[in-house]
Amino acid sequence: MSDIGLHDTPPQGTPPQGTPPVRGSRNAVIELDRVGKVYRTGSIAVTALRGVSLSIEEGEYVAVIGPSGSGKSTLMHILGCLDTPTSGRYWLAGENVGVMSETQLAEVRNRRIGFVFQQFNLLASMTAWQNVELPLIYGGVPRAERKDRAMSALARVGLASRVNHRPGELSGGQQQRVAVARALVTEPDLILADEPTGNLDSVSAADVLRLMSELHEAGRTLVLITHDVEVASASQRVLGIRDGLVTENDERYAESLR
Ligand code: ADP
Ligand code: MG
Repeated sequence: MSDIGLHDTPPQGTPPQGTPPVRGSRNAVIELDRVGKVYRTGSIAVTALRGVSLSIEEGEYVAVIGPSGSGKSTLMHILGCLDTPTSGRYWLAGENVGVMSETQLAEVRNRRIGFVFQQFNLLASMTAWQNVELPLIYGGVPRAERKDRAMSALARVGLASRVNHRPGELSGGQQQRVAVARALVTEPDLILADEPTGNLDSVSAADVLRLMSELHEAGRTLVLITHDVEVASASQRVLGIRDGLVTENDERYAESLR
């Protein structure tokens, strides 16, 4: 037992037993080890996550599904380095997030994560390409390269003909595709989407989910947070979250939400 975690495969002839969670895997983009989150307000403590251990490999498309209050937003904030756990450990692309300062966390967010939110979060006064180049400005990329990369990210999401439009001149589905282009433009290790279809009609929602599947096929790592079983079923792996605990492939639970 002393060498657990040092080898990727068990010694020859030894069958794998009890499938312990993979640790320190070279290709893990996300690795959570008994992550807990307790919110304290005065003398009141709310436990939002109770020891979540999970590993997400490069190129996986994972949906996290759970009802209101189950801990989805808390988990998303931790995965996105917008908040830190109160216990346990989190490695993002091999880096221990728990020991980082606010400045380091901001830098990791910009460099490693692309966010897609339910409300799109585009700047209304800026054109599509200006919105998409923003993370590159924060990342210190030179102007000419920024524009080129923003243009190709917009072409990637099928909006080459809309680059000079402002959000108000685009449909909801197109705005969300701009947001996906903005998430892609930094070539992040992880794309984190929080209810990305929550504000869309069913046709635009299907469009955005198709785009997510294309990104997955192109080798991107995606984590999609949702309360919607149909949306979750677009992914390759479904995690259920309930009362601050995550369970793998919880089919009965998904069924119960129908
Ligand atoms: P979900 O996104 O699945 O609806 P949340 O992660 O927002 O769930 O919340 C999980 C639990 O943590 C809930 O009981 C919620 O009331 C509590 N909670 C969330 N954020 C805070 C906070 N900032 N302060 C205190 N309690 C919180
Ligand atoms: Mg929430």
